[in-house]
Amino acid sequence: MTDLTDQFNRPLRDLRISVTDRCNFRCTYCMPKEVFNSKYQFLVRDDLLSFEEITRLVPLFVEHGVHKLRLTGGEPLLRKNLEVLIRELVKIPGIDDIALTTNASILTLEKAKELKQAGLNRITVSLDAINENTFKRMNDMDVSVQKVLNGIDNARVAGFESVKVNMVVQKNRNEEDIVAMAEYFKGSGNVLRFIEYMDVGNTNGWEMDQVVSGKEIIDRIQQKFPIEPADPNYRGEVAKRWRYQDGSGEIGVITSVTQAFCQDCTRLRLSAEGSLYTCLFASTGTDVRRLLREGASDEYISEVIASLWKSRTDRYSELRGKNTDAIHKVEMSYIGG
Ligand code: SAM
Ligand code: SF4
Ligand code: SF4
Repeated sequence: MTDLTDQFNRPLRDLRISVTDRCNFRCTYCMPKEVFNSKYQFLVRDDLLSFEEITRLVPLFVEHGVHKLRLTGGEPLLRKNLEVLIRELVKIPGIDDIALTTNASILTLEKAKELKQAGLNRITVSLDAINENTFKRMNDMDVSVQKVLNGIDNARVAGFESVKVNMVVQKNRNEEDIVAMAEYFKGSGNVLRFIEYMDVGNTNGWEMDQVVSGKEIIDRIQQKFPIEPADPNYRGEVAKRWRYQDGSGEIGVITSVTQAFCQDCTRLRLSAEGSLYTCLFASTGTDVRRLLREGASDEYISEVIASLWKSRTDRYSELRGKNTDAIHKVEMSYIGG
């Protein structure tokens, strides 16, 4: 295996695979209804990479250093038989961790058990509020908090030791839920992570003054529950860890806006229709589905991946605001976060 690095000496380590661009939520910061409505052209079945195509591609990424996979979307649990894909991915030598990011609203106990048995290692659930009205306003599809909490419980019962819970924080939207969410998950064994609202895509109308900084989030929690910084679990960990001084667990803060971490970014993203993106804020992808369907050899596709990573210079979050405003960016629901 060659240790492939990009123009800033960052190795390729993680691959995020989007398995669908569809979702049963319309989170206002991700898929606003004004855009993602009945007129929106979602991908159709033939557009999507098949499980066989994904399984053929993954070893080519492993050759270049990938050892962690994350399945995402849209809502990945809308892709039928996801456990069948996971069963194939775990067999690939060199893959030592497979995670899933989901809104958990359709994560039944049966599904959670199937995913666990297939070999899924970890589940991250997105939940933006514990207050019913706030959550319904944010998902914009009238989905109740309890549905997501049931999904989290199902994951735990199925054997996932701890679930990470992601909360995107937006000013004047769910700020009041910062402490309430901390209180709810404190002592549960699940790890709540606060994410600064990002300017991904072109549809959410992002403004800097809607961002609640990681510092402000920590200050708010500190006032109610004493916390102290904890060491990262590994170099380049995206979330900054804080632990409750009373020993009842930890939280994380992902400061993608106020303290960018591009220098440690080791992720490549594969869209549901088979395009590769080297940054969450990229505007164009590299079409590997075409290569697959036109009969390109593994060697050739492997070279394409290597040259894409080697020429990578992405550091959007570090440059944010400096001539980045006019860039047409790919949507989060398409690329998977
Ligand atoms: N539907 C799944 C879910 O929500 O967990 C997976 C896909 S979703 C695009 C992946 C992650 O992106 C979620 O945790 C979501 O909160 C996050 N996300 C989406 N839009 C965002 C934004 N504008 N700023 C920060 N995080 C965002
Ligand atoms: Fe769907 Fe996830 Fe986007 Fe919400 S954040 S609209 S659940 S893809
Ligand atoms: Fe990585 Fe791009 Fe995010 Fe920077 S802005 S951390 S390069 S995905």
